[in-house]
Amino acid sequence: FDVPKGRSKRAWPGNDLDKRRGAQSHKYTHGHALILSGQSGKGGAARLAARGALRIGAGLVTVAPTPGALQENAARLDAIMLSPVGDAPTLETVLADERFNALCLGPGLGQERARELVPVALAAERATVLDADALTAFADNPAGLFDMLHENCVLTPHAGEFARLFPDIAEKLNAPATQGPAYSKVDATREAAARAGCVVLFKGPDTVIAAPDGRCSINSAAYERSAPWLASAGTGDVLAGFVTGLLARGFKPIQAAETAAWMHVECALEFGPGLIAEDLSEMLPNVFRKLG
Ligand code: AMP
Ligand code: MG
Repeated sequence: FDVPKGRSKRAWPGNDLDKRRGAQSHKYTHGHALILSGQSGKGGAARLAARGALRIGAGLVTVAPTPGALQENAARLDAIMLSPVGDAPTLETVLADERFNALCLGPGLGQERARELVPVALAAERATVLDADALTAFADNPAGLFDMLHENCVLTPHAGEFARLFPDIAEKLNAPATQGPAYSKVDATREAAARAGCVVLFKGPDTVIAAPDGRCSINSAAYERSAPWLASAGTGDVLAGFVTGLLARGFKPIQAAETAAWMHVECALEFGPGLIAEDLSEMLPNVFRKLG
């Protein structure tokens, strides 16, 4: 992956992970992440995200499915709590609890439910990850979504989701190199972040993370060190959970996005061939141990 001249290429940002966890730690001092989920039979993605958020260090994690999906989730979650949310007013009531300091919107949510709940969740002004259905649901009016976003948001699109939200930018990115000056994924992500007014983490083997002020970094480890097993179902949902968990722990959006992307690839490399999404969070303890 070529880094255009003049752009910064920052490697691992050097955070001292889990520094704040110590003898005096209490779960309530490490944040409470709320992961919105959807209908019965669609909640796997949200559970993957929730497990990622808890394993990466959020003090508490709650999944909010539809009331009809409560039993299904209860049978599959133990350390993760449940809070049914049937409609927007219920979500407003849940979010009145200010201890929910980070939200994950999109994985397993369903587009119809995303259109109803995302505006309420964004109005609550918590650190918020938007992925999957929370992005796709606004493909017909991306500007409407951007108007609702705030600076503590992180968008985590893959190439398809990116093209739906930023069609003109994707067109420039995908144009043949012979047409006009070179336009890289770094340029595209920076332009998207400036337009959205928040951090954008543009996924792929070369993941690019940009902030609205132009700060940008590339995580090319999945490509350079080869982690192709990440190209499988559910891995992006785990990444959304990692970002959410770090936000709950108090990381700033750009730092949470960079750190999550780094941990995600490290987990994949730690497991190696045969990896499926469920394995990623289980590798976090090994990765933490290596960090010392
Ligand atoms: P999603 O498409 O939302 O499931 O996310 C897929 C995840 O896998 C993202 O974190 C991508 O960065 C990563 N990924 C996708 N394709 C590859 C690839 N060929 N090699 C390494 N990582 C990949
Ligand atoms: Mg995805």
